[in-house]
Order: sequence, then C-alpha cells, then structure tokens
Amino acid sequence: MKVTNNYNLPQPFYKTLASFAGWKPKQSSIGVTTLISPPLPRMVKMTKWDEIEVDASDFIPILLGNVAHFVSESNTGEEAISEEWLNLELDGMKLVARLDRYEFKRKAIIDYKVSKIAAFYDGVKEEWGLQLNIYAHLLRKKGYPVEKIEIHGILKDWSPGAGRSNPSYPKIGYQIFPVIIMEDEKVAEYINQRISLHKRAEQLILSEGIERHWKEFLCTPKERWNSGDTWAVKKKNNKRATALFQDELAAKRYLEKLGTNYVLEKRTGIDMNCLYYCNVRRVCEYGKSVCR
Ligand code: SF4
Repeated sequence: MKVTNNYNLPQPFYKTLASFAGWKPKQSSIGVTTLISPPLPRMVKMTKWDEIEVDASDFIPILLGNVAHFVSESNTGEEAISEEWLNLELDGMKLVARLDRYEFKRKAIIDYKVSKIAAFYDGVKEEWGLQLNIYAHLLRKKGYPVEKIEIHGILKDWSPGAGRSNPSYPKIGYQIFPVIIMEDEKVAEYINQRISLHKRAEQLILSEGIERHWKEFLCTPKERWNSGDTWAVKKKNNKRATALFQDELAAKRYLEKLGTNYVLEKRTGIDMNCLYYCNVRRVCEYGKSVCR
C-alpha cells in the first residue's frame, strides 16, 4: 500500500499517519474488527496490496482515536492490564485482538471510542457490542472472568455551551456506555460463522481470482453505509423537492394530493463508505464504479 501526502502534511504527521496503513493481511490470521467486517476489503488488500493508494490524511481519525490508547497505556495502574494482545487458534485461523483495558477488581473490559456525539445517540452500535463480546470470549479463554463491558466514549464534538438549551446533552465530553454481555456460547457460534465466511472467501478468491468472485462477497448495503433510496415530490422543472420520502407509496399518495403540476423522482441512495472512507475503494471493482 502506498501512502501519499497530497496535502503536504508536515513530515512528523505524515510519517505517523502513514504508520497506520497496517500490513498486508495474512491468510492464517485475522483481527477481531476485520472478522466482524465483510470479507471483500480484506481480500482486496490480500490480492491487490501493491496497487492500493491511500492519502495520509485519510488516517487522521485513527490518530485521534489513538489518543485514548496512549492515556490508558501510560497510566495502567496495578489493578488493570492495558493494550494486551489476546489470541485464539480456531480452525487453522489465528484470531487476534488488542484489548484497551481490563480491570481485575471489577472484572470489567473497557474500550475507548473517540467519536462524535451523534455516534452514541442510539446507544452502543451492534458492531461495537460484537467486538467487545468477542474480547470477553478471548479473555475468558485466558482465565479472566468478565462481568462488565463498558465503552468509554470521548465525544470529539462536545461543546460547553450546547447543553444550555438541551438538558439531555452530556455534561462533559466523556461518557460511559454499558454493553450487554452475550452468552459465551452465542459468541463462540458467531466467531465460527465469521471465520468460515472469511475462509471461504480466501479459498475461492485466492484459487480462482478476485475478478471471478468479488460479487459473491460484495459488502451489503449496510456495510457500504448506503444512505437508502428516497423519493422526491417536486414541481415540474424544479430541482428542489417540495417533500422527500423514504417510502415510495407515501410519496405517491402525497403526489396525488398535489395534482398534475408535480412529479415524482427517485433518488438512489449513496454508498458513503465506498465513496469516501473504505481504503480499498480505488481498487475494489464495486468501489471504482462508485468513486468514478
Ligand atoms: S469499496 Fe465498498 S464494496 Fe468495495 S470493499 Fe470497500 S466498502 Fe466494500
């Protein structure tokens, strides 16, 4: 993977950001977040590593995310472990994870997430819950009991004045979110399913080529962060919509009420991940069609 510096970031920044590019995925090893993610980006990296070009600026969010890890690592204390590597060998695949923090007394896993307040509006995201329950599974295998899992959210867009008109606004830019603990058996079942999926992708793509099999492993609309189709009701010859609907039927009903001067226009959802964020988007066959 080539990391460019298209915005002339100063060398110390560029070098640090470039170090987040990671490494070419290995067949026999997979990280927990990659396990939860779809197989296609991993396979694109595995087969086209040398063709991938990413700008260093794409890694700025990772740099911010790492601040919490730095704090945790430099002040672990005696009652906890931090930044500990965990691993488990399963069906010829090594599952690896780096734990943010585990506190012995509370038997608690802590994971730091640096994100906007909006990311926490609906509580803990499904993928975060899965990620941390897998950590719990790996810890239990190592002999550490887990009775609590917490996400410590560092709210990067928190502002002191914003709470004046909104009583539910967080008092400080740091919030703790409890994660529901899943049954260990269910977690093990989930891990096995994901390992089989990634192994099947490896087997087919490495033996018969990514060109032949990428469609079969295409990320789902949810994984592509598709914004969803919408239907705009607008005046004839107008660009701007009078009303926007997520449901086609509701849009048609509204159109009937407005009469013949109005028309319906379908606006196809955008794959935000493929367009702006996924770092294999310029070499992935699907990503190329979206980025064009
Ligand atoms: S560009 Fe889109 S479809 Fe391709 S790997 Fe990335 S998220 Fe998946």
